[in-house]
Amino acid sequence: MTNLSDIGSIRELLARHQFSFSKSLGQNFLVNPSVCPRMADACARAHTQGVIEIGPGIGVLTQELAQRFEKVVCFELDSRLLPVLDETLSDFQNVSVRNGDILKADLADVIRSEFSGMRVSVCANLPYYITSPILMFLLENGLPLSCVTVMVQKEAADRICAQPGSRLSGALTAAVHYYAVPEKLFSVSRGSFMPAPKVDSTVIRLTVRERPAVETSDEQAFFRLIAAAFGQRRKTAANSVSAGLGLPKPLVEQALSELGFSPNVRAETFTLEDFAALSEALQRLRG
Ligand code: SAM
Repeated sequence: MTNLSDIGSIRELLARHQFSFSKSLGQNFLVNPSVCPRMADACARAHTQGVIEIGPGIGVLTQELAQRFEKVVCFELDSRLLPVLDETLSDFQNVSVRNGDILKADLADVIRSEFSGMRVSVCANLPYYITSPILMFLLENGLPLSCVTVMVQKEAADRICAQPGSRLSGALTAAVHYYAVPEKLFSVSRGSFMPAPKVDSTVIRLTVRERPAVETSDEQAFFRLIAAAFGQRRKTAANSVSAGLGLPKPLVEQALSELGFSPNVRAETFTLEDFAALSEALQRLRG
């Protein structure tokens, strides 16, 4: 098996393939050998059998996943990495690499055709420039995933794992908690990557809920309300919701008052239950 556990071997591999890093694709490769085994073990706790990896890079995490799970399917956007992955994953018959953008993949079809009957999870050191779109893409399409174990920028982990209703919470916090139970697993310093990014990282695990955290009669209206409420962070909820949804402010104030909120309440203090109740009240008052 190609040795990816020391930086000298990684440098030699990349030089031989004349590889140059692309900043715009978020290419910071892990070179700290202790991180990938821990990520793969964290994913295994969900009794996973099949794993989807996003952005395998040169295959450091992929090798660990392939040793633990029945089947691994990876999506790598950068075609220059395909010959590298051919080499580093040549010992594994249970890995397939697809060249393409994860956000354009038909994952429901991949799960049906590649992982029939298996419990499937996602494990990835994410390209940070598209952290939120990838998490929403994985969660909001009703995919049969057990868990999503990903490395993200430390600040993103803080926001995602904040309790809805607390100071750091935002639209992504609410959306993730609606679909999953997020937890921080461990921190990874910037020196663990080549090239070293300007930020530290955290590995988080989202255990996907069987049912969303709260009931809503209209899920789209619920998410439109959340987007509007956090759309203008420094405004009161009444102002941002009325501007974001194009509703008269007195109607929004009436809904808030019926639910017992002060007219100056701010969106970051709302729990998921509060958003669900406000969404129902607004729909009723609009008639
Ligand atoms: N897994 C490797 C590691 O840990 O060293 C590489 C992680 S690197 C942070 C992110 C990887 O995602 C890169 O290999 C990059 O080319 C790939 N990538 C970027 N955008 C992507 C997309 N939209 N779909 C699939 N892969 C993408």
